[in-house]
Amino acid sequence: MSQARLMDGTALARRIVERTARRAAELTGRTGTAPCLATVLVGADPASVTYVRMKQNRCRTAGIVSRHVELPAETSTGELVAALRSLSQDPAVHGILLQHPVGEHVDERAAFEAIAPEKDVDGVTFASFATMSFGGPGFVSCTPGGILRLLDAYDVDLAGKRAVVVGRSAILGKPVGMLLLARDATVTYCHSRTRDLASVVREADVVVAAVGRPRLIKGEDVKPGAVVIDAGYNPGNVGDVDFDSAALRASLITPVPGGVGPMTIATLLEQTVDAAARQLGG
Ligand code: NAP
Repeated sequence: MSQARLMDGTALARRIVERTARRAAELTGRTGTAPCLATVLVGADPASVTYVRMKQNRCRTAGIVSRHVELPAETSTGELVAALRSLSQDPAVHGILLQHPVGEHVDERAAFEAIAPEKDVDGVTFASFATMSFGGPGFVSCTPGGILRLLDAYDVDLAGKRAVVVGRSAILGKPVGMLLLARDATVTYCHSRTRDLASVVREADVVVAAVGRPRLIKGEDVKPGAVVIDAGYNPGNVGDVDFDSAALRASLITPVPGGVGPMTIATLLEQTVDAAARQLGG
């Protein structure tokens, strides 16, 4: 029997999307312009196609217009950069999302940097990362931002806590660690070269699993009473944490699905309306 309390990302995300939809309607009524998110997809990777479609559907339910730009798999870095610069300069577009991955032959960093920081609602540019890390006003990386909202909703006090982030990707591991640090947690990053991962995880008051390896984190390595955030999403709806065994020791735990995933999209929509409000003057 599970002892941990579930952190219900689906319910929290629903409340955030409802509030975002009210703000979008108010902004549209006042300015005559609906918030607009441009989604850019390179190629037709089935998972990416599904993610982009989900984001567009959610936009629709929140009163956000979505403009979809589909580019062929063979699009060059130069062509992708040109498309993103054009969206960055288009006053009808308030937010831009470039779906990752863009293909091995493309310089993804150069593409991200072609997104104007004021439209970087997915929080992927260097400017957004730096601003977020220094606690300035800007857009956070969506999954990390969603994780912090979830921790706040369950009143997890992070100050002085030992937080272990497993994974150091640019979109997830690194930024979530910076957000935890900004809340005065003592943060340790683990990655593929970390020695004796289990012993590091055992020290954690808060564990964030952001790896992409099914059930890598076992319950026996969870400190009793720890808060466990599973950002992993592997085929078959399996997370990076072995949920059944971890739930016996954790105090709070996110389910997969229904934990971190819905919070990512909610954060994207909320930041799109924030961007539109700033650009439309509201
Ligand atoms: P990624 O870019 O592949 O990064 C994976 C990270 O895990 C890397 O830093 C890697 O270390 C580390 N790693 C790999 N194997 C390890 C091991 N055995 N022990 C310790 N660390 C290990 O992945 P990502 O994009 O961050 O995504 C991670 C997971 O989150 C995936 O399951 C993905 O589907 C999920 N995700 C979910 C959402 C959501 O909205 N729910 C959003 C984004 C991603 P190195 O740096 O040394 O290679």
